[in-house]
Amino acid sequence: MLYVKNVHTTTISKTVTRLVKCEHCGIEFVYFMELEAEGRANSPYFLAEKSAKKSASQKAHRQMDVQVAKSFDSIPCPGCFLYQKYMYETARSGANSVSLFTGCSSLFLGCLLAGGLRILYESIQADWMWYAAVALMAIFLVPVAWQLAVIVKRSINFDPNTESEDNRKRIAQEQAVERHAFEKSIQTQLTNDLDELATAPNENANGDPIPFDVPFWIDDAQLDHDVKVQVSLPNGENVEIDIERDESEGARYSFVKIVGGRKIKFRCVLRTFTQPILPSNRAG
Ligand SMILES: [Zn+2]
Repeated sequence: MLYVKNVHTTTISKTVTRLVKCEHCGIEFVYFMELEAEGRANSPYFLAEKSAKKSASQKAHRQMDVQVAKSFDSIPCPGCFLYQKYMYETARSGANSVSLFTGCSSLFLGCLLAGGLRILYESIQADWMWYAAVALMAIFLVPVAWQLAVIVKRSINFDPNTESEDNRKRIAQEQAVERHAFEKSIQTQLTNDLDELATAPNENANGDPIPFDVPFWIDDAQLDHDVKVQVSLPNGENVEIDIERDESEGARYSFVKIVGGRKIKFRCVLRTFTQPILPSNRAG
């Protein structure tokens, strides 16, 4: 019997800011993770379309919650260029894929040249070609064997902090930033934006002030209870914000201030520094 169904897929994405306190040098640094989650549900014979859509969306959100709670990237500290212990396993699979790529490319190149030699042999049929073929195999099999040996060695005893420091330094500089430098760069950016606003219209057609977003970060652990935080506005004033327990990311708190004789509506947007639940801390 023909089974007809309609498949609903929902994809959601989210950026999370991870905060790491380095176990080697003690500095705090942040990095960003782009997470994507997908949920699927079927509606057999095109019945129950609405509930299938809802189910797909629920599945995607559940999968996203798991990722937000558990996933992490393996990134060296921008202060000392060392990996945290819990990142070793992911760092190893990353390093292994580089080795596998190198090994396979070498094998592929070897086969290609051997094939070329074989075709050439059809027309020339010279004895030296046999030696050449053997030499070629040897040349290309050495890197393959070498990379295999490296992978085996890694599986026995792997410490990514003994791998190339230049490499670790590059990854750290590209993908992570020290917490204080990150917060300072946000402040600088906001001050510049406010300066630019001084000469631009800041009201919409109804005469209402256009909101000026001021993102501020707190540690997600602080949301275990109601919390009061001080936020510095780019005009130099500080405001106190009462944040309720379990408030979600993106919550907004507005403050209207007079800056240079103009009304500015600062809209403080809650952002959180998150930390993954690590395998050793996972209960049950
Ligand atoms: Zn460090």
